[in-house]
Amino acid sequence: MKGNIVIVTTLSLIAFMTMCLSVNSYDHGFLSGLPAKSADTKRQQDKFVIFIFSDGLKTQYMNAKPILDKYGFKATFDVICNYVGKKEGYMNWKEIKTLNKEGHEIGSHSMNHVHLKQLSKKSIEYEVGNSKKCLNAHGIKVTSFEYPFSEGSDDKSIVSIVAKYYDFATRGNDPLMFLRCDGMMKYGQKDCKTLTDNGTPTYANKYAIRNWSHDFEKVQNSYSDAQALRKFIDVVESQSKYNKDGIKAIPIIMYHGIGENKNDSATDIDLFEKEMKYLHDKKFKVITISDFGYNKKNNYLFVKDIKRIEEPTANVTSNVTTPAPAPTANVTSNVTTPAPAPTANVTSNVTTPAPAPEENPILEILKKLFGLGK
Ligand SMILES: [Zn+2]
Repeated sequence: MKGNIVIVTTLSLIAFMTMCLSVNSYDHGFLSGLPAKSADTKRQQDKFVIFIFSDGLKTQYMNAKPILDKYGFKATFDVICNYVGKKEGYMNWKEIKTLNKEGHEIGSHSMNHVHLKQLSKKSIEYEVGNSKKCLNAHGIKVTSFEYPFSEGSDDKSIVSIVAKYYDFATRGNDPLMFLRCDGMMKYGQKDCKTLTDNGTPTYANKYAIRNWSHDFEKVQNSYSDAQALRKFIDVVESQSKYNKDGIKAIPIIMYHGIGENKNDSATDIDLFEKEMKYLHDKKFKVITISDFGYNKKNNYLFVKDIKRIEEPTANVTSNVTTPAPAPTANVTSNVTTPAPAPTANVTSNVTTPAPAPEENPILEILKKLFGLGK
């Protein structure tokens, strides 16, 4: 009896959502493409990238956003709460809210961008905790923190405060983040446990997700833009050898100013455009920090939608009418876990440049509604 109600409710919801979808076409580019051949899908699954735009600089909004928009890429913008709308050269709340509304992730980069290690515990609480409250007060949901100056992830008391407020925290500086923290140079980690057996923070963990500073590398090596582009390509392609059998490593590229030529830590607009075009043409999948999930039992990070492919918890099937040309929609009210279903790659934040074939909006909404695939 209860089962029948569930099925009836499910079918009504599906009918309703199908209607909604055909009316306003659910503007996320879901329906814009034809189903991909599985080889294409596979290729995209091998190449991921995350962008972090640090500090909340105005030029990120003015110069990077239009290029990101052009390719349909979403990024993580880490903002300094007390700078927003107050300090020259930094974004205002309207711009930050626009980014957020358009599907970008907003992360916290503290209240005042100070050296956390030089502060009292109370002040660290303020910098770390209040910056989350500050963003929340503007209607922005936050899951990640970026350490100012990349400092603090080796300090147990700072890490414990960060852990109170955030799911993840990021810092520099490694070309690849290994999702099981087992490929980081010379540190001998086998998983992403936060603390070593001695109780000190590990080199890489969910509160020390390592990003790669594009700008730092460029300045340090005095690269020309052509050399910087070549290095960028080396870094983003370097994941392939690790990702043959599932996603093990992802480059997390950090930018600061975009098109501020007077500034050392800025990336020229033309270079940025070339980098984005490269990723688009090579079919990289661009995700954000909040697309990470964490396996608490075995201590590793994963990309949430990939997890669903590799270890599907919700493979749902039945005869559901989907708007054509919907890709293989396997929908049912029965939650079982049969073989991997690579065509049902369903995500909320993951954006691929059009055509975006493997995403199925109905299945996604169902999963959200019924809490499947978590
Ligand atoms: Zn910063």
